[in-house]
Amino acid sequence: MATIHKSDCLFLDNNTPSFRHHFFIPQHKGQDVRYFCGNSLGLQPKNTPAYVQEELLKWQEFGVEGHFHAVNPWKSYELLVNEQSAELVGALPHEVVVMNSLTVNLHLFMLSFYRPFGRRRKILIESDAFPSDRYAVHSQVRLYGLDPSCVVEVAPREGEHLLRTEDLIQTIEQLDEELALVMLSGVNYYTGQFYNMPEITKAGHRVGARVGFDLAHAAGNTLMHLHEWEVDFAVWCTYKYLNSGPGGVACAFVHEKHHQKPGIPRLEGWWGHNPLTRFKMPKQFEPAPTAEAWQLSNVPILLMAAYRASLDVFKAAMPMSNLHEKSRMLTRTMETLVRAFSQEQHAVNVQILTPTAEEERGCQLSLVFDKHGREIHQYLSQNGVVTDWREPDVVRVAPVPLYNTFEDVYAFYEALHQAVKDLRL
Ligand SMILES: *Cc1c(COP(=O)(O)O)cnc(C)c1O
Repeated sequence: MATIHKSDCLFLDNNTPSFRHHFFIPQHKGQDVRYFCGNSLGLQPKNTPAYVQEELLKWQEFGVEGHFHAVNPWKSYELLVNEQSAELVGALPHEVVVMNSLTVNLHLFMLSFYRPFGRRRKILIESDAFPSDRYAVHSQVRLYGLDPSCVVEVAPREGEHLLRTEDLIQTIEQLDEELALVMLSGVNYYTGQFYNMPEITKAGHRVGARVGFDLAHAAGNTLMHLHEWEVDFAVWCTYKYLNSGPGGVACAFVHEKHHQKPGIPRLEGWWGHNPLTRFKMPKQFEPAPTAEAWQLSNVPILLMAAYRASLDVFKAAMPMSNLHEKSRMLTRTMETLVRAFSQEQHAVNVQILTPTAEEERGCQLSLVFDKHGREIHQYLSQNGVVTDWREPDVVRVAPVPLYNTFEDVYAFYEALHQAVKDLRL
């Protein structure tokens, strides 16, 4: 039997703060589903409809005057979200701007920070990078008429699933003055591995390269100190752990040291102009003295309103370290129970790809079933347990500290046993 019992889980639920009541939980046969897909699409906060409705009403009642309305005027609406977004990733308030979508931001910041010149033209990525990131990087290389070999992939060692920090650093050092940009994720989407961002950043800078991160799976999930770590730039979406809704608005971080640098290459638009004089419609572009200089367009208010609704839930749960503490406990519990399940029956063996060390992961665990993985995943879906399947053979489960409970985690363990029984494996 598992060393963790249902009563332990109920006890933990009664004795740790929970923000579950702030969220709509999808239903299955009249009951809350066990939702472990917050790594893919976060749940809807209960205040989201009201926040969005508020802006729709403003538009109905005031039309264009909504830009100057006394409450949350649209013309500076981003100011309501930039600062708190910065706090979530350990950045200074003026280092983060909320805008566009993730892949768009990835491109915009590579245009600023990937500047192949002379021998320095290579980009380092992880071999199992998310497809969009891979496509983005390759298309940037092509944009400069360079060879695809300028994209260098660092892979786990033979027979291993995780990248070793030492191997990453060694590759960076070997590439040396040929390396233009290190472009990795913070948390790998497939394995759930949280890279050693400060060490990687230092190594990149030692050889004169720029270092950027895609934090899609790290933002709202792990503890980061982007400013202190001197990361050059980072981009992330808000619909995963940040619960802003499908296709939600994205974020970008630019380290303060790059603000106001004369001649930094960048695509520019009117919303990146110094906000003090933006509406004087000057002919000459004068960049905002902050990360906002990278902003192109006026902001998508409805998406921003939905994102604000989620940030307000985070506000109640902050600091991130509190949330992270709960996250560690939930994930540790999930890990223990999955290992127990694997030992308690003979039908399937479950391997956990994600690192065991808590400083090397967020809340996601990537499970590989030696057989019947697809059937088990399908069984779980049909029985109110929401996980996701990633080709070729991984089931990702993410107990999210804002709304998942220890009881959810226990239910996952029970559902695995039930699957083996009902499927007669
Ligand atoms: C989710 C995710 C994306 C998605 O990109 P969009 O531009 O938001 O569609 C890209 N990269 C990574 C690493 C992701 O996890």
